[in-house]
Amino acid sequence: MQNFFTDSIELLKEFKELLNSPRRIVITTHQNPDADALGSSLALYHYLIKKGHQVQIITPTDYPDFLRWMPSENLIINFEGEHQNKAKVLINQAEMIFCLDFSALGRIKSMTEWVQNAPAVKALIDHHQAPEDFAKFIFWNEKSAATCELIYQLIEKLGDKSLIDITIGECIYSGIITDTGSFRFDSTGAEVHRIAGELITLGIKTNPIHRKIYDSNSLERMRFLGYVLSQKLVVLPEYHVAYMALSKEELGQFSSKNGDTEGIVNYGLSIKGVVMSVIFTEKDDMVRISFRSIENFAVSELARKYFNGGGHKNASGGRSDDTLEATVSKFLSILPEYQDSLEANNH
Ligand code: 5GP
Ligand code: MN
Repeated sequence: MQNFFTDSIELLKEFKELLNSPRRIVITTHQNPDADALGSSLALYHYLIKKGHQVQIITPTDYPDFLRWMPSENLIINFEGEHQNKAKVLINQAEMIFCLDFSALGRIKSMTEWVQNAPAVKALIDHHQAPEDFAKFIFWNEKSAATCELIYQLIEKLGDKSLIDITIGECIYSGIITDTGSFRFDSTGAEVHRIAGELITLGIKTNPIHRKIYDSNSLERMRFLGYVLSQKLVVLPEYHVAYMALSKEELGQFSSKNGDTEGIVNYGLSIKGVVMSVIFTEKDDMVRISFRSIENFAVSELARKYFNGGGHKNASGGRSDDTLEATVSKFLSILPEYQDSLEANNH
């Protein structure tokens, strides 16, 4: 797989030439978009609009309320919403489709076949492990902390740094802070600090962004968190594992919205001695699983091997078509296989 920026002068030239005249462009990102998915999509959107292109962001599903302040998010089309037909036309008519913050086509749900079959030239910009080979232009780096970091570098490398304004900067900063856990995950390198520093110099106000993303909880969500931590959190000290399993009924009791479980899995990791934290949430048609870990314990491998998932070394997702109970049992039954590795990473 070639990264077109670093490995191929011809592809880079072709990419630049394509964007030299106005194009019909669709940007898409993974289902249940997070701040990096939306932030990178919106940052690229604002940049391409400035360059004179016709751009539409289409997300495979809706996204959480705490992201409903991001610049121009109201113009995004949700493929599961009322404008699906319009979205299909736009995908078919697009000359370019940008796929951001995912690298397996299955992660765009029912949009998969539409994007796959579209005549548009595809570009993939992403930092997840194991990318699929479906795009002509690939800008991929597993070591990048966020797709937003790659978008900043892309605009820079195209010689358009002067086009990065406060709007684009706010989008990029949002993705960087959430994907690095506010600059504390292992993925946090000098590069994201450089970019954040440059954005602050540019004039973005960071504290309001942090507050909009992290301090916009509803009272119900806080009560829900309290319930999960007091009643549902299980710790298995012999495995250095914490997990929580939430049924549909429990989610319903707190009129929990999509997005309310976001981030709860991280609380498991904040317990001393826990190397892997997992949350299981029962949905209508499956059980969603989020995995988090520290050090060199790769949850991506476990998620890929047993739960149809993947992601990053320390943050992955997956799914199961079994019942909630059966999914948890399966998870518990595979722990002995990982016991040595969990133990080895407990420091
Ligand atoms: P989350 O637990 O926040 O949903 O996901 C954690 C990370 O793993 C994110 O970077 C997300 O994009 C990725 N991820 C989540 N679910 C899947 C999946 O089913 N497959 C793959 N390949 N990555 C996933
Ligand atoms: Mn990301």
